[in-house]
Amino acid sequence: MIRIAHWIGGKEHAGTSGRVGPVFNPATGQQTGEVDLASAAEVADAVAVAKEAGAAWRSASLSKRSAVLFKFRELLAAKSGELAAVITSEHGKVLSDAAGEVARGLENAEFATGIPHLMKGSYSEQASTGVDVYSIRQPLGVVAGITPFNFPAMVPLWMCTTAIASGNAFVLKPSEKDPSAALFLANLWKEAGLPDGVFTVVNGDVEAVNALLTHPDIAAVSFVGSTPVAKYIYETGTANGKRVQALGGAKNHMVVLPDAELDAAADAAVSAAYGSAGERCMAVSIVVAVGEIADPLVDAIAARLPKLKIGAGTDPNAEMGPLISAVHRDKVAGYVAAGAEAGATVVADGREADLPENGYFLGVTLLDNVTPDMAVYTDEVFGPVLGVVRVETYAEALALINDNEYGNGTAIFTRDGGAARQFQFDVNVGMVGVNVPIPVPVAYYSFGGWKASLFGDTHMYGPDGVHFFTRTKVVTSRWPDPGTSSVDLGFPQTR
Ligand code: NAD
Repeated sequence: MIRIAHWIGGKEHAGTSGRVGPVFNPATGQQTGEVDLASAAEVADAVAVAKEAGAAWRSASLSKRSAVLFKFRELLAAKSGELAAVITSEHGKVLSDAAGEVARGLENAEFATGIPHLMKGSYSEQASTGVDVYSIRQPLGVVAGITPFNFPAMVPLWMCTTAIASGNAFVLKPSEKDPSAALFLANLWKEAGLPDGVFTVVNGDVEAVNALLTHPDIAAVSFVGSTPVAKYIYETGTANGKRVQALGGAKNHMVVLPDAELDAAADAAVSAAYGSAGERCMAVSIVVAVGEIADPLVDAIAARLPKLKIGAGTDPNAEMGPLISAVHRDKVAGYVAAGAEAGATVVADGREADLPENGYFLGVTLLDNVTPDMAVYTDEVFGPVLGVVRVETYAEALALINDNEYGNGTAIFTRDGGAARQFQFDVNVGMVGVNVPIPVPVAYYSFGGWKASLFGDTHMYGPDGVHFFTRTKVVTSRWPDPGTSSVDLGFPQTR
């Protein structure tokens, strides 16, 4: 069994709180490790080290910072297979999916190599006679990232690449369910030449989170996780004077119009609903079938399900792995039961699938005739369960989405450009796909939902990420000719 420690001052740091949490391999159900759970005092020690390191890192030239990011990016690319294996061993997702997660995180490192350009301010010459005005971007100091289990490498990479490139010290509190990927990243940062203390990992649970949220030297908190916790993080962090962006859960609808290409829509629905066993915040959990496409669409989705291969993430033939824990698997199975009881038509029942004996596996479920009052519709299920809601019109489909409490991602499948454009205009969701089921923005845009999917006003990574991890200072400057100044009590005018 491995012991997963903290990472403080550029090296592993064994916990002293006396509290540890178990880490499992979801494909076998075996406990594989123990992770240290930090006390508030340990968090404070880690933040003190980060503060000192951050003060020096802030002074490092933009080219030096960019060089570290380039090196980090190269190391991440070279070791992506190793990192994917670490992810699979604790999260359970299949290796190809874990490699995909690393590839998307790598894009954030690539974006952050451009930090000299991204940190540029603006300059106005002669704003008043002999007076120039310019803006500069500066880092915040020590910033924290608190991340979920479902992307143990990508979500930390969303945050730490931009935060560090812009001159901050970054303290990561990863999910206690799969913490090893964070330590892997810590080693890469060190190898890339990042000064000790600029990247820190404090493992832990609520106690560590609360210590970060209330620590006076943490300037900002970037959070990704479930909506109730996101709301708590936002409220507590801002009440303690911090800048906070807190991304929450989701209920992503995929609208299929009657003119959609049937096979493409069915392929997309299956990939987006069951990939990573549905444990993605951008997973499609509801298909909204408009009009007469419903019957052929349900048939086409159902026809694809028996071919899906479920197995351990390390099995090269497996397309879908286990869920994160036994508790979560049982909760998801409970939603299937509740849906059936509430009157949904069970087209495929994941509870009856032929599955590996051990581990937290659940087969794929397809529920037809789901209605908005059912728990399987109202709640984020976060498992391999796809519901189909049948409506007659585009307007009904749109109303369903706009009435939903979440607004993370959505997609429309159609051959009609005008309908797609109208949808893009109408829909109250932060990320929209047109014939693309999981519209996760590329790294040079920003990621974020609306409504209960995000608390705060900046999205994650990309230009918004730079904005979040920096603050602007505006300098008004005059270099008068010697001997030309005089006392003037009037308010400054731009003449
Ligand atoms: P979670 O909210 O349970 O945990 C997220 C983090 O918060 C972890 O580090 C955890 O230790 C900490 N935490 C948990 N409970 C806490 C509490 N009561 N007080 C303080 N901290 C607490 O989420 P999860 O189960 O790890 O991840 C799945 C959730 O994350 C889903 O809801 C999913 O939609 C969401 N998610 C959202 C996005 C997005 O971009 N919007 C991306 C990935 C995941």
